Amino acid sequence: MYRIALYGKGGIGKSTTVSNLSAAFAKKGLSVLQIGCDPKADSTIYHNGGRRIESVLDALRRRPNGRVAFEDIVHRAPNGVWCVEAGGPSPGTGCAGRGIVAAFEALTAAHAFERIRPEVVLYDVLGDVVCGGFAMPIRKGYADNVFIVTSGENMAIYAAGCIAQAVENFKNRGYARLSGIILNRRLVEDEDRKVDELARTVGSRVIYRLPRSGDVQEAERRQGTVVDCLPDSPMAKEFERLSEAVLAASSRARDELFVPIRAGDFI
Ligand code: ADP
Ligand code: SF4
Ligand code: MG
Repeated sequence: MYRIALYGKGGIGKSTTVSNLSAAFAKKGLSVLQIGCDPKADSTIYHNGGRRIESVLDALRRRPNGRVAFEDIVHRAPNGVWCVEAGGPSPGTGCAGRGIVAAFEALTAAHAFERIRPEVVLYDVLGDVVCGGFAMPIRKGYADNVFIVTSGENMAIYAAGCIAQAVENFKNRGYARLSGIILNRRLVEDEDRKVDELARTVGSRVIYRLPRSGDVQEAERRQGTVVDCLPDSPMAKEFERLSEAVLAASSRARDELFVPIRAGDFI
């Protein structure tokens, strides 16, 4: 099983990249589970015709006893990708990181991993704040491989540096490792040089350089991923090549499943 987390600044293209990766893996016949760990809960919409699935936190809120069933929180999309959205608290209340922990506890209790037995798990994680909660996917054996999505914009590079530092902080405990950087081009000046320098500074490498492409917006207009909606487009080929580069750069986990966690674990 490959357990892969993509981190990056909000708006950098994580969900676009993760969704197209999931679609590319599913097209190869692999069993894929995509877990959105962004309070926006929109990671998986383009697997589902532009519709939001109910998040784990919303499902938990709906259940007075706080217990949810597998079917409440795991949704199989028409393209075969298994979709989960952790969700988040109402704006201005609660802690988004704690929400991610609650979502992981619910997935564990519903035996989601044992039931799906995914070959690839992809986490789509907001990296603006790398607090204990958002770091959860790189701890406790959830993800083994972290990829950082960035452009050459200064704020994206700053966020990437913080994420790399968070991964480094946990490395010695046998948690996830930084497996590479994915450049998602914004066409800013000196973009390649800036991202190459970031990679050097954090001791990693740029494993793929995605072009900026109008195919992404066209697929969004059709409410799907580029890989599914525009399979013959140049951008679909880019995402397919990216999927190969991601697997090549990833270490594979032994088939052990979740390590149970407690809410107190993340701080
Ligand atoms: P994030 O999940 O990091 O917040 P999204 O994946 O939602 O970011 O991307 C934000 C917007 O950027 C998307 O609506 C998409 O239209 C655009 N986008 C992302 N990557 C590309 C790309 N390679 N080419 C063109 N547009 C892109
Ligand atoms: Fe926000 Fe993280 Fe603090 Fe929670 S722990 S309130 S998610 S910064
Ligand atoms: Mg997103």
